[in-house]
Amino acid sequence: MKLIIACTTENLIYVIYLNYMNKTDVKIENTIILGSGPAGLTAGIYAARSNLEPILLTGSTPGGQLTITTEVENFPGFENGIMGPVLMDIMQKQAINVGVNIINESAIEVDLKTYPFIVKTQNQTFLTNSLIIATGASAKFLGIDGENRLMGKGVSGCATCDGAFFREKNLIVVGGGDSAMEEALFLTKFASSVTIVHRKDSFRASSIMQERAFKNEKIKILFNSEIKKINGENKVESVIIFDNKHNKEYTMPIDGVFIAIGHTPNTKLFVNQLDLDEMNFIKVQNITNTSKEGVFAAGDVSDPKYKQAISSAGIGCIAAIDTMHYLEDKNLL
Ligand SMILES: Cc1cc2nc3c(=O)[nH]c(=O)nc-3n(C[C@H](O)[C@H](O)[C@H](O)COP(=O)(O)OP(=O)(O)OC[C@H]3O[C@@H](n4cnc5c(N)ncnc54)[C@H](O)[C@@H]3O)c2cc1C
Repeated sequence: MKLIIACTTENLIYVIYLNYMNKTDVKIENTIILGSGPAGLTAGIYAARSNLEPILLTGSTPGGQLTITTEVENFPGFENGIMGPVLMDIMQKQAINVGVNIINESAIEVDLKTYPFIVKTQNQTFLTNSLIIATGASAKFLGIDGENRLMGKGVSGCATCDGAFFREKNLIVVGGGDSAMEEALFLTKFASSVTIVHRKDSFRASSIMQERAFKNEKIKILFNSEIKKINGENKVESVIIFDNKHNKEYTMPIDGVFIAIGHTPNTKLFVNQLDLDEMNFIKVQNITNTSKEGVFAAGDVSDPKYKQAISSAGIGCIAAIDTMHYLEDKNLL
């Protein structure tokens, strides 16, 4: 059993107990992957093909964020695009075929202060020599009437993903930060008009991004405005806007609503264990290395900028290769 540096009392007792057991009775995994989105499954495929016999915990959303979308047109390899849930189903089958041990559970506790690291689910406790975190992020939505029902039918959280579906359309972007400006500017490549709707009387975006938005002829701005409802049968047709300065409500016909009010990374388990940035994304160096040796991060959980399926898959690949090198360098394979 490896050296214990520090850990919670409960986990310390657990590891002491394991120390007293015959070493051969205690299985220490090479690597555990948290998450079954594009990052986690790709990490799994590469780790399995490097003989690491990885265990992958799916979390509560097997397949990740793409399972809540419809058409994905920008993932290479599918000439006519592919439905998000179908893509993730194929990826999961590929992972199983190459030997990833996929377990339909979530990590509910992770102790990175012990070594080997401890990962607990509702039903099991694992010891592992390395960890790949691919727990993703969740786009924040408004929680208003019509938003969920019309998701993928005019409501979107990703201009890069869905902008091309809205050629010559009139769109709304909700938000006031850099990502809202970026989304609006990107959408002007396709749309006839883009209205940025923001509840406050000024943006918090950087001045350079604001300037670009103000200068763009296709962009209109509505300050002091909140979307209260998104209307439409099978596609977005209009929104109800509340003007909080003049205290009045009105309906605006529109073809699409892009919500750009930020993302919440799934990093609660790692608070006080790994360095996180001011928005709680995992800080990485050299692409996948977290602040703890032997712990790697991939995908949206450590990427506040690109947030794409293909970039997540790519970093998942790198995380698995980095993990293999780490285990080799430590003579743990
Ligand atoms: C509506 C929508 C449409 C999109 N469309 C596109 C598109 O067309 N093209 C594109 O490239 N990108 C698109 N994206 C973005 C893309 O889905 C993400 O960039 C990508 O899924 C990120 O992959 P990931 O593996 O990092 O994380 P995710 O896909 O977020 O997966 C995270 C995984 O971690 C698991 N997890 C969380 N907590 C735990 C835990 N405690 N223990 C174990 N597992 C855990 C979850 O269950 C999930 O399986 C879209 C996103 C949304 C929301």
